[in-house]
Amino acid sequence: MRYAVLSDIHANLEALRAVLADAADRVDAVLCLGDTVGYGADPGPCVELVGERATASVAGNHEWAVTGRMDLQWFNVYARQAAEWTHDHLDGECRAYLDALPLVAEVGDAVLVHASPARPEEWDYILSAEDGFAVLAHFATRLCFVGHSHVPGAWSIASSGRAHERGAVRLHLERGRRYLVNVGSVGQPRDRDARASYAIWDVDERLVEIRRVAYDVETARRKIMAAGLPSMLGDRLRAGR
Ligand code: ZN
Repeated sequence: MRYAVLSDIHANLEALRAVLADAADRVDAVLCLGDTVGYGADPGPCVELVGERATASVAGNHEWAVTGRMDLQWFNVYARQAAEWTHDHLDGECRAYLDALPLVAEVGDAVLVHASPARPEEWDYILSAEDGFAVLAHFATRLCFVGHSHVPGAWSIASSGRAHERGAVRLHLERGRRYLVNVGSVGQPRDRDARASYAIWDVDERLVEIRRVAYDVETARRKIMAAGLPSMLGDRLRAGR
């Protein structure tokens, strides 16, 4: 069984389509770690596509924002404007789908959670090596996939020691070693690489690999401007940060 693990699509339909096309003959199923909406101009089409394709999905903080579960005062001004715009541009069916998403899901030997398995509803950011190592004690499975920081990377622990790698990691899963993997962001990468990021998890080959996919950034940016969303949200897609 091979999975594509997607996170932080952020209503970027161009990036989502490019990733699904890249994954098409590489995987058997799609998993989604949340923040499908917020920032970009195509929340409805992205929710519909993820709803059709993902066999398991969890909620991110942007889902909680548009379904009214989280106070928008926790968001910066751009995120708040985008959340209000998104709320007004999603139909009732899409909102109901997002409202029904769990915070945590388990698929095979992996936990799926948007931010952190330690306190999923607090939306903690796992950024440093120590952040990740601290979280490895908070799930019981071999693997945990997260998003939220929009920066891909991996942390792992075994009796032989700990390891932390940033970027486009390629992991051969060792017996007795447990892993936390950030799959990066499909629709708003923040590691100075504008290409969409996602992970392939090959259960039988015991492999997890981050892939980067070029997409039509200019169209996604133009749609953000045309929608009246903050122009900074379009500009940052070019720089990938
Ligand atoms: Zn996000």
